Amino acid sequence: MPGFELFGDAEKKEVQDVLDSGVLMRYGFDQMRQGHWKAKELEKEIQFQFKVQYAQLLSSGTAAVSLALASAGIGAGDEVIMPCFTFVASFEAIIMLGAIPVIVDIDDTLTLDIDAVQAAITTKTKAIMPVHMCGSMANLEALKSICAINNLILIEDACQAIGGKYKGKALGTIGDMGCFSFDFVKTVTCGEGGVMITNNYDYYTNADHFSDHGHDHNGKDRGAELHPFLGYNFRISELNAAVGLAQFRRLDNFIEIQKKHYMIIRNELAKLSGVTFRTVPEGGEESYSFLSFFLDDLEIARKVSTAFKNNGIDVCFHYYDNNWHYIRKWEHLINQKSLLPLSKELKDGLSYLKRKSFDKSDSFISRNISCLIKLSWTENEVVQRAKTMATLIRSNTH
Ligand SMILES: *Cc1c(COP(=O)(O)O)cnc(C)c1O
Repeated sequence: MPGFELFGDAEKKEVQDVLDSGVLMRYGFDQMRQGHWKAKELEKEIQFQFKVQYAQLLSSGTAAVSLALASAGIGAGDEVIMPCFTFVASFEAIIMLGAIPVIVDIDDTLTLDIDAVQAAITTKTKAIMPVHMCGSMANLEALKSICAINNLILIEDACQAIGGKYKGKALGTIGDMGCFSFDFVKTVTCGEGGVMITNNYDYYTNADHFSDHGHDHNGKDRGAELHPFLGYNFRISELNAAVGLAQFRRLDNFIEIQKKHYMIIRNELAKLSGVTFRTVPEGGEESYSFLSFFLDDLEIARKVSTAFKNNGIDVCFHYYDNNWHYIRKWEHLINQKSLLPLSKELKDGLSYLKRKSFDKSDSFISRNISCLIKLSWTENEVVQRAKTMATLIRSNTH
């Protein structure tokens, strides 16, 4: 996955352009910047590549998720349904707005369980946010129809699945809004950065203003611009955008490499009786950023995970025992350990987490191992790795 593995001359050239002009900010300074608009250019590339009308580049993927929600007017006391298997950023982005993350089970897709989503809808629900974890998607068709029936907004957290597709469309363009992260370990990196994409002009305009202190970006004089509503600063810098621009142009190539490496390992593991793979919803194509599989039970998964670590098979995650990606270890959220006072609405809204169990998700995550697919491996390294993985699984299975 990490695009940083393949930094090269293209990234250096884009950054050098920015340093030569001296304009590190994405807005204004029209004369001084000598025609360099890296953030704007990257937004255009994203729109073109993903066939989407609007892209708003931001300072992080977390900011992208927050801004997507805020742009649709979601805030204090509103409920957003999200999965219990995701990076902590997904709930942080919701909580930051005073909204309530309603966390529900996942199924064998490793993303939102459709029945659990249905059961979680209340009069306060405003949005459903599937997270396309480890390169594959939720059943978006089902979620779309639930949203249509209940008048809810669909926001895709596609931070780990850039380049994946669903029924011929780019992930991130199927819901009302889609979010990607360009942090240092993502398939495309800006160092730090993110983007919110949409075909809705109002959401886009709201995100554009909100991410820059409310600036309406009308005219040529920043000081004279109006502030139709309150905003914050979630801008990306030109330096970060420059890196991302070079990286994003290589996306097709990155996905091709990921797919090649993924298939070599998958084909090897498919020969083993104790291994099954995650379900990909009909019409979906993974981004191949991870290969995710299930073993027979928790004990075997723990043994295999340890064997991998002890035998040089790095970047494989047993998320059941991981502090950052699964509800089981989110005790700071469950116990509301906040540096600053939380609103009463949010405290009450989160209290269900002290009682709720996630048995269905446990039954999948406990047996799951997800292996990151690196770009910089040689083919020979991948073949060797696949064989070692198969041997280690075989010797740790009943
Ligand atoms: C990386 C990630 C984010 C957050 O992105 P940052 O750019 O690191 O803020 C959000 N959701 C998921 C699923 C992620 O993997």
